[in-house]
Amino acid sequence: MKYNRILLKLSGEALMGERQYGIDPKRLAEYAQEIKEVTDLGIEVAIVIGGGNIFRGVAGASNGMDRVQGDHMGMLATVINGLALQSALEDADVPTRLQTAIKINEVAEPFIRRKAMRHLQKGRVVIFGGGTGNPYFTTDSAAVLRAIEIEADVILKGTRVDGIYTADPEKDASATKFDFISFDDVLSKGLKVMDTTAFTLSQENELPIIVFDMNTNGNLIKLLSGENIGTKVQM
Ligand code: UDP
Repeated sequence: MKYNRILLKLSGEALMGERQYGIDPKRLAEYAQEIKEVTDLGIEVAIVIGGGNIFRGVAGASNGMDRVQGDHMGMLATVINGLALQSALEDADVPTRLQTAIKINEVAEPFIRRKAMRHLQKGRVVIFGGGTGNPYFTTDSAAVLRAIEIEADVILKGTRVDGIYTADPEKDASATKFDFISFDDVLSKGLKVMDTTAFTLSQENELPIIVFDMNTNGNLIKLLSGENIGTKVQM
């Protein structure tokens, strides 16, 4: 196996499945199964989950809400998703810990780096909820930050599309997919992988990002087995 420790970033919207809002239990169970297959191989898995299926601070602010309040709501939404994912993983017999960037002691452990690493070494999946704990950030930034902190080998960004294209494949039929692309090329071509804060943090720390389609069953395990799935952003 190419990677010993991965950080999987899942968007909140991914959890909606066919729904317009909230969490689809079927999708959650599918994700749990896929993650179980990975842990069964002995790969250490940490997960950062978004909250966009429930609330986004920017959306609140555009309706007149205070941005910081909205971001707090967004961060709590990621904790809700984290609890749902934890429950689904435990149903699949995967030992799991949820650590949050905002302390909610009755519900989850606080984020403690050394503890998180210990859990991973013991084969537990660690879900990081609450983003970075700060407003004006995204869970992509949280994913990169946590990945660096726990010394993950790679970030796997599960999305709806199967990689990075020369143009938006939903708008331009001639768009082709990259198997590999450098951080510099992503920036110079104006391609969208993550928000700028998250992306430059990854680049500065030489942490590769693989963008792949998490909604096709089996993709995660194929990717980790070395199959040519998704697009890898590297130095
Ligand atoms: N958020 C935040 N700080 C963080 C991470 C997230 O304030 O470090 C808030 C922000 O309002 C964001 C929401 O949580 O809109 C949900 O996160 P995100 O939009 O990244 O979720 P995703 O798009 O991955 O579902």
